[in-house]
Amino acid sequence: MARIPVSVIEEIKERTPIEDVVARYVTLKRAGSNLTANCPFHSERTPSFVVFPATQSFYCFGCGAGGDVVSFLMRIENLEYVDALRQLAERAGVSIPDSGERGDGVETVPRKRLFEMNRDAARYYRDQLFDESRGEATRRYLTERGLSQTVIKRFGLGFAPDDFGMSRHMKELGYTEKELVAGFLMKVSERSGKPYDLFRGRVMFPIIDVSGRVIAFGGRVMGDGEPKYLNSSDTPVFKKSKNLFALNYAKNNCADEMILCEGYMDVISLHGAGVENAVATLGTALTPEQARIMTKYTKRVIICYDSDAPGQRAASRAIDLLSEVGLDVKVLKLKGAKDPDEFIKKYGVDAFRDALAGSSGKFSHTLGTISSKYDENDPDARVKMIREVCEYIASIPGATEREIYINQASAALGVSVESIKNDVLLIINKNRKKRRRELPGEMLRNATGVGDRVNRDKLTHLRAASCEETVLGMLVGYPEYIADVASGRIKLSEDDFSTEFGRRAFSTICGIYGESGAFDIGALSEHMSPDEVSRLVKLSVDRSQLDNGRSIFEANVKALTDEKSRELAKSEDAFDAIRRMRETKNRGNT
Ligand SMILES: [Zn+2]
Repeated sequence: MARIPVSVIEEIKERTPIEDVVARYVTLKRAGSNLTANCPFHSERTPSFVVFPATQSFYCFGCGAGGDVVSFLMRIENLEYVDALRQLAERAGVSIPDSGERGDGVETVPRKRLFEMNRDAARYYRDQLFDESRGEATRRYLTERGLSQTVIKRFGLGFAPDDFGMSRHMKELGYTEKELVAGFLMKVSERSGKPYDLFRGRVMFPIIDVSGRVIAFGGRVMGDGEPKYLNSSDTPVFKKSKNLFALNYAKNNCADEMILCEGYMDVISLHGAGVENAVATLGTALTPEQARIMTKYTKRVIICYDSDAPGQRAASRAIDLLSEVGLDVKVLKLKGAKDPDEFIKKYGVDAFRDALAGSSGKFSHTLGTISSKYDENDPDARVKMIREVCEYIASIPGATEREIYINQASAALGVSVESIKNDVLLIINKNRKKRRRELPGEMLRNATGVGDRVNRDKLTHLRAASCEETVLGMLVGYPEYIADVASGRIKLSEDDFSTEFGRRAFSTICGIYGESGAFDIGALSEHMSPDEVSRLVKLSVDRSQLDNGRSIFEANVKALTDEKSRELAKSEDAFDAIRRMRETKNRGNT
């Protein structure tokens, strides 16, 4: 695999201090030798985001995001590893050697070439749509769905005939089959081993990035074929989870609020009717990355999903994701239509704007979801429903927020504020007692890494995992130890690690060192996810400024290699875990 050499990464980083790059996004304040700011990756009022100029890294004690200048740029600009490096290199005036073949056998096609290819394909599909005879049925279909010529052209819609004309045309323009496969316009048939045109007999929706480049396609089948919608898979220029349909248009009209829909047709209908702040996900549920992207453009998101049960469930999940990144969230549940597209057609855009103004906050949505489960006219069911609402309110941590919801629930349910307040208090007290009884168990769960999404099998290898974390943290923080491991002065191998995360992190670190005789956090991002890199940086931050660093490192390596510790890992008792958790708490971070 042609990696970008560590020496190049080091040169880029030398010329691009992390504090300069971070300062382009947040206001940094000096705190001793470090700098702090309100975290750009989660919503907060008191700064827990720290930049360490000495180690050229950052870490947020609030949300756990961490890394070096490369991973910072990847996160904040939603870039892939190579693109983040290229952007930094460009600013720093460092040239990056061109990489050739990718590890998975797919030929690497330069991004510029893929953009050109997508643009040419979009033109081909558009020309087919406006071809007198070929595109007639599709044009009629779009007109029947209420789309004007202006909107069809604005969104660059097209038509892929049910034949292999696209690849013929593209080859005439000089694109190779390999390139077309890399761009997901053709796919290699599993049966014949030959590539074929992927989109056939479909209305084509180009997916355009915020810079106005065509990066992928969605195709809706004409007629009854399956799948109804076919979307490009991820390519070097397209990540489903990091893009939003129509954001290129919506970004200029959504400073106050953005409307999030489920389907392309919903968005196109809304834009066609003059509601130009609508976007949609790309055939999947909303992702945390998409939620973060939205924070760059707007303050409030109005979720406008299908009014059926699956749509409303998806809305509930989206509420959580959007609230987590600090966005004000509202939900618009349309009455009398299954989706925004149908609603606009039936009742017009004014009715839609009225409905928008009356869209409800997340608590109203929850209220609606709870009450829809019960029969309003049955007194027993009503009691249960009110009980469930009170339990929900009791689960909310903030007293002010609870107060507001109590008033809202009282008005909506026709029950006095007093009685709801009493019920909520009773539940809170009961939960408190219950928690006190269960506390040791809960502390144990916290200490044992249940629900650790980065190191998933930490729980089954408790003691080993704790040694592994120290070793990994110190390898990342003090690359001279990697040299000791590589030279065999310190004996440690992948097999000494018990967790999958530990093994992979160790072999990645050694792999990077082995290839270039040096190590840099920046190179980790090529092989590990941003959350995994954050974890390694956290581990190294936790273990920086340790006195007697080398002896601690060696003791932990010994514990890992010592077969006995494996045995112990299985029999660690509860008290041990609790003690360790207390220690972590006392250090003031989790
Ligand atoms: Zn944070």
